[in-house]
Amino acid sequence: MAISAAAVANRWTQRRRRAQELREAWPFSAEVLGFYGALLDAQEAAWSQARMDVPAPADVISYTRVRVLPAIFEATVRSGPSKLVQSLLERYEVADFESIAKAWLDGNELLPVERYIARAAVSPVLEALGTAAGALGSGPRGGRHCPSCGGRPQLSYFAASSEELLTPQRYLECERCATSWPYTRMTCAACGESRSMQLAVFTEEGVAQAGRGARVVRRQPAAADLGSEAAAPEPGSARFAHMRIDGCRSCSTYVLTVDLGGNGRAVPVVDELAALPLDLYAKEQGLRKITPNLMGF
Ligand SMILES: [Zn+2]
Ligand SMILES: [Zn+2]
Repeated sequence: MAISAAAVANRWTQRRRRAQELREAWPFSAEVLGFYGALLDAQEAAWSQARMDVPAPADVISYTRVRVLPAIFEATVRSGPSKLVQSLLERYEVADFESIAKAWLDGNELLPVERYIARAAVSPVLEALGTAAGALGSGPRGGRHCPSCGGRPQLSYFAASSEELLTPQRYLECERCATSWPYTRMTCAACGESRSMQLAVFTEEGVAQAGRGARVVRRQPAAADLGSEAAAPEPGSARFAHMRIDGCRSCSTYVLTVDLGGNGRAVPVVDELAALPLDLYAKEQGLRKITPNLMGF
């Protein structure tokens, strides 16, 4: 699918706009989104520069260290949550960046602070390179992995459908390079489980799911789950009306799914980052996210 440069550039504007919107609408996510907004400026600048420089895949990590890392580091120290900043200053050595970034691209285990810095700095470069970045990551391609770089799905979303009766296509979006690819609807994005008895969909109470073919487990999050002073939503006015948790009992993982048909203003990567109460709820159910997002949730 060809994507015009203007449409791609617009992604950053969309992310910034949505982060601002949700920051006001979802007070529990204000800190995360305030920081994300500051980081977006550094990431967009890195993306624009990389679009001009077009580093060769073999040079991406060293390029990122020299051209991108300083600004990402600076934005994080200036605007990041104190715990992250403290870890960054105490536990992370800039000299280790290249080996950390390589480990991240290979899908190896990393400390949260290492995963954060690798991802925050390398992903805008991968996004700028598009399919050319595909040569970088290791591991399988396609299906439950990004067809371009082999990354795992950060999130899932349903495209808005122009025809009411048409079932919207489901997509997964890559944790590393933001590529999206089509994926079967009621199938675990981590292990491929498709037996409905093993799959659990959680939505906020009051969200209609009729006709979507999902086995729905509804529950109103208790005030304690919300992690904020925000008032509990009125019936029918769920804050996460366009979101759900897609859980799998076979591999005990979950992914958050954003329904763009349910909210045309949503930007999946931003909404996923901000829906902290859904993450808390999924964890209470004994599920872990397929891969933590940029902010570690
Ligand atoms: Zn990817
Ligand atoms: Zn599974």
